[in-house]
Amino acid sequence: MRTTWGSATDRGLTRAANEDALLANPPVFLVADGMGGVAGGAEASRVAVEEFARLTGQATATADEIHTCFRRTADRLAAELAGTRAGTTVAGVAVASVGTSAYWLVFNIGDSRVYRWSGGILDQITVDHSVVQELVERGELATDLAETHPDRHVITRVLGTSGVPEPDYWMIPAGEHDRLLICTDGLSRELRADVVVRGLRENSSPQDAASWLVSRAIAAGGRDNVTVVVVDAASDADEMGGTDTSQRAPMAPPPVGTREAGAATSGPGETNEEEVGR
Ligand code: MG
Repeated sequence: MRTTWGSATDRGLTRAANEDALLANPPVFLVADGMGGVAGGAEASRVAVEEFARLTGQATATADEIHTCFRRTADRLAAELAGTRAGTTVAGVAVASVGTSAYWLVFNIGDSRVYRWSGGILDQITVDHSVVQELVERGELATDLAETHPDRHVITRVLGTSGVPEPDYWMIPAGEHDRLLICTDGLSRELRADVVVRGLRENSSPQDAASWLVSRAIAAGGRDNVTVVVVDAASDADEMGGTDTSQRAPMAPPPVGTREAGAATSGPGETNEEEVGR
């Protein structure tokens, strides 16, 4: 499966520093939203990117490998930021395969998000780990009131300095014209869905789309750090697994820690286009 991608991040207009971080190196694309004090937040999101970057260069990644990255990040945060409230969200996607079919392995902790834009429909894949999301799911809060709720910033899961990481995972078949949007809440809180769709529809290049979305979030107020990764996929038609979102199903986390990740590689790629798998 061929992927092309683009990314953009900005401190915004009101925050003192950018505590977000991103990784856009196949097979892993993710954003991380650090929190718990400027220094600690920036450090926590950076550590997450470093650990997931160990998979860079592989054609695909497995859920077990991704879970190892979560666990290694948690171990480093416990060692390096002990006694602080530092932590980070992580949301992203890894190129995966089942047999000869290409899949997206989507994962998240916290309220950063992964969306799929396919056939003109924007579909939020991840489910926020947040107080308001839990209220919505229990039918105690209308969706349209969630963005003004006083606890809208309170997340219920984070990758922090203590505890076992509890990411959620989804495996979704990769469609030929899929475009994935991975973003921190600085985007999803600042832009309405129709504006996000416009940005994805009107910018054919993933880099243009990422830059457009970040600049619109800044223009809308830029009240938080804002980070976006856009990934486009093209798979051979005869190997497509389909794009029916009814095939989407939560996965149980894999067994923890059966292998260590491969050699470390970090830093932006030379090119933002790569042929992976098959
Ligand atoms: Mg944020």
